[in-house]
Amino acid sequence: MKNSDQHAMQDPRTQYPKSQGQGEADEQQPDPGLDAVLAPQADHGERSYRGAGRLDGRKALITGGDSGIGRAVAIAFAREGADVVINFLPSEEIDGQKTLNMIRQAGQKAIAIAGDITDENFCKTLVKQAVEALGSIDILINNAGKQQFVEELEDLTTKQFVETYATNVFGMFWITKAAVPHMPPGASIINTTSIQSYQPSPGLLDYASTKGAITAFTKSLAKMLIKKGIRVNAVAPGPVWTPLQQSGGQPEEKLRRFGDKVPLGRAGQPAEVAPAFVFLASQESSYITAEVIGVTGGAHLP
Ligand code: NAD
Ligand code: MG
Repeated sequence: MKNSDQHAMQDPRTQYPKSQGQGEADEQQPDPGLDAVLAPQADHGERSYRGAGRLDGRKALITGGDSGIGRAVAIAFAREGADVVINFLPSEEIDGQKTLNMIRQAGQKAIAIAGDITDENFCKTLVKQAVEALGSIDILINNAGKQQFVEELEDLTTKQFVETYATNVFGMFWITKAAVPHMPPGASIINTTSIQSYQPSPGLLDYASTKGAITAFTKSLAKMLIKKGIRVNAVAPGPVWTPLQQSGGQPEEKLRRFGDKVPLGRAGQPAEVAPAFVFLASQESSYITAEVIGVTGGAHLP
């Protein structure tokens, strides 16, 4: 980034490098990918995000808060004054600890609850422990996700199809159902959907269809929960440089040119997605519910 302040005016096309680099971006890593070995590194706003008290005193639960978009959201929320519980898989402890440190450096309470959200009982435990630690849940970010590229229909296994739905859709349902009784009026739920909900790619059949489900779930739930004064929205990122992409989310040849086809001509960074979550979590978006905000580099939602 040319300037270390997120508010400095600059050309968005050149704010970050174009390609993810020839060579190192081709390296694949096992799923779930680790930020600790992501090359080139991603920007989560560590050096640039400047808070303004938008979330003072709020309590937030963020799934997939260890790395990628979830880490950028955790850093932004903490700098805006929120205490944060993050969830991630036990194998991601190294990334989780780094995020926790950054939340603490912002002067906020930071708690990790590791576990697998494809297990309904764990989802209930996660919410229970988050409420015990924080007192309530004012912001719920359903952000954990699984994406594995499979080129041909005949190679897409039932196991993968079920796991992708269990992670992206069922986990969101179980956590949301458990969390809502602990959410006061004014609370905000934000789900991470995707450009894939609107422009599904071949090779992402299971993933893209879970994102379609998340978009519809968001809008239906928003209409149910407004009776409780809870708003529900989603953020739909386009191509964003995270461990998800380097751990089977894209085939190797696409990784090299990841993001180059969107109008901005480059992949986005997690730091560029987090402000949309801050906006939807804060009272600034009081008249916005059942909405999806695209952060796509110009690939736009229909
Ligand atoms: P990421 O790998 O950093 O984050 C995904 C997280 O999901 C992991 O860190 C992991 O903690 C969590 N997760 C996966 N399976 C889990 C399970 N069974 N139990 C608990 N946690 C589990 O990658 P990211 O790109 O930041 O992904 C965050 C969200 O953004 C996902 O929902 C993804 O679908 C969505 N998204 C990403 C892009 C992109 O280009 N990177 C684009 C659109 C949408
Ligand atoms: Mg991770």
